[in-house]
Formats: sequence, C-alpha cells, structure tokens
Amino acid sequence: MPEERDADRHGPVVLSVVIPMYNEEEVLPALVSRLRPVLTELGVAHEVVAVDDGSGDRTAELLAAFRLGWPELRVVALRRNSGHQAALTAGLDRAVGAYVVSLDADLQDPPEKIPDMLALARAEGLDIVYGVRDDRSSDSGFKRWTAGFYYRLMRRLAGPSVPAQAGDFRLLSRAAVDALKALPDQQRVYRLLVPWLGFPSGRVTYERAPRTAGRTKYPLGRMIRLGVDSVTGFSAAPLRIATWLGAGAFVVCLGLLVYTLTAFALGRTVPGWTSLFTGIVFIGGVQLICVGLLGEYVGRIYTAVQNRPTYFVRHDTAVPAPTPPAPPAREQGAAEGNGARVPAPRA
Ligand code: UDP
Ligand code: MG
Repeated sequence: MPEERDADRHGPVVLSVVIPMYNEEEVLPALVSRLRPVLTELGVAHEVVAVDDGSGDRTAELLAAFRLGWPELRVVALRRNSGHQAALTAGLDRAVGAYVVSLDADLQDPPEKIPDMLALARAEGLDIVYGVRDDRSSDSGFKRWTAGFYYRLMRRLAGPSVPAQAGDFRLLSRAAVDALKALPDQQRVYRLLVPWLGFPSGRVTYERAPRTAGRTKYPLGRMIRLGVDSVTGFSAAPLRIATWLGAGAFVVCLGLLVYTLTAFALGRTVPGWTSLFTGIVFIGGVQLICVGLLGEYVGRIYTAVQNRPTYFVRHDTAVPAPTPPAPPAREQGAAEGNGARVPAPRA
C-alpha cells in the first residue's frame, strides 16, 4: 500500500504514543513502568508525548523527574484544563511519528497491545487500528449501560463504520493524523471523526481493566457533554426532532380545537380547565425543547465563528524556550502593518 510506505518513510521516529493526563499523579509511576519496557522491546525509534492537561497535582513534577532518565519522553503542558479531547488534539498536533498511538494514562487500555497494533498496521497497510474492548466487566453497570446506548446512537448518526466499544486507544498512520489535523472542527470527538475519515482500518481486541489508581476524570457532567458534542457534531437530526415535535403538537392542538368547538356548541364551556392547562404546559414544553435544541447548534456556530484555539500550550519540552528578542533598531511595523490582524494559526 502506498500509504504504508509513506508512513514508514516519515521522519526517523516510527512510533509516537500520545497520553493525555489530568491529575494522574497516582497512576504515573505504574504507567511508566509498564509502557517503557514495551516500547524498548519494540525496538523502533519512538517518542512518548505526555500532554499535561492543566493538572493541579504533582503530575507535572513527576513528568519532569521521569524525563531526566527517559529522553524519549516529551512533555507538552497546557496552560489550563481543556478536556480529554482537546489534550489529545494537542498531542496529535505535535507528535512526529510515522504512527501515532493514543493511550489513556490510567492503564485501562493495556500498553502491551501497542506492538500488536503496529504489527497489524504494517502487515496489512492499515491507517487505523482500533483498540476494541471485548470485555467491560470492570466498568460499573451504569458506565456500561450509558456506553452501550452511546455507541448505538453514534452508529445511527455517524454510520456503521463507528466501531462499538472503541474508545480513544487507537493507532493512526501519519496520513490519518494529517487528515485529522487538517479538519477545522473545534469540539472534536475523535472516536467519531476517525472512522468518518474512511481510511482502511483494523482492530485489536483487549480486556478493559479497571482504573489502576486515582478517580475517573469523566464525571456524569462530562459524559453528557461528550454525548451532546458527539450528536451535534455529526448530525442535524435533533433539529428534525424539533420539527416532528412541533408537527405532533400541531395535530394534538387541532384535535383540541375540534373538542373545544364542539363543547362550545353544546354549551359546555366551563369545565375546560384541565384540557386548557394541559395544552399550555404541553406546548410550552415542546417549545422549550425546540429552543434548547436550536441553542445547541447556535452554540456550535458561535464557537466555530469565534475560532479560538482549542488549547494553549504553556511549554513543550521539544521546543526550546524563546530567548527574549533584542530591542528593535528602529520602530518598525507602522509602515507596513497598519494593525491589520493576521488570523492566529490553530495552536
Ligand atoms: N483526561 C484529560 N483531561 C480531562 C479529563 C481526562 O486529559 O479533562 C485524561 C485522563 O487523565 C485519562 C483520560 O483522559 O488519561 C481518560 O480519562 P478517564 O480515565 O478519567 O476517563 P474514563 O476512563 O473514566 O472514561
Ligand atoms: Mg479511564
């Protein structure tokens, strides 16, 4: 496959492992002690891109300490907590490998599967290899139920190419990473965007382990946010739901109208309180739902128009800190610049 040869030729680094982490001080030592031997044994040039998503604990300190004895570790620190998908974006934007694996820090996805993913991609010339959980018994019943519902919904919305039970443990070729980087999307949900790209893909199954240490960084609120972003990022179907709700309400109202007119003709107009009140509450509810749905999409348009960067990098160990520029010899810029703003590149 031409893609595979291109991927293999890209730069000296064959494999990048991108790991977003937020307050993961408890799992970091375990992560390093399991990941590092796997990569060493693999015997290819590699880098590990740890994205510190604005952690408030000792994550940054520990990463700095690990870096001293592990030259392949690169640390990208974000200025503030921007969320899992944004942290992943920061890592993918910076990884240089011909293949890039994204991995959660909490060891729920086994690093031991990385060699299998790489071997499969190389052998079959695949651009994407999904890590698919064939056993989620370690997750709570609630998490499994919500995840099952989420994946069924996503397959309906984004098409059957969305693999069920594939989270953010996956391998991407350089071509796939570049395709993702070229997308203008702001609120990215990679588990939908990646299958949507349409690259040839394979899968490696694994057993989902319980979180090694620490607490989940995906409380219910964030799970709901991910769900809403997934739906609104891929489908305008909810807006059509609004239309159908409106149409349904209209039909019900027509029925009520007939009832009211009949009651009026029969002279039974006083005991209409229940139907009147029900009608008002029903229409009010339908309208609020529709306004809310519209609001979600207007919100997305708003974010897209603002075009703000998804994340801000505080420092990146692969980029030397800039030396302060020497004072300019003479005042420049007024002549040419005119204060015209050049659009900031996506950081
Ligand atoms: N994470 C992150 N930023 C956040 C929340 C989570 O970088 O704001 C990272 C977290 O450190 C972990 C990964 O995203 O490496 C997945 O989070 P978690 O394991 O808590 O989610 P769960 O497995 O419970 O869905
Ligand atoms: Mg986890």
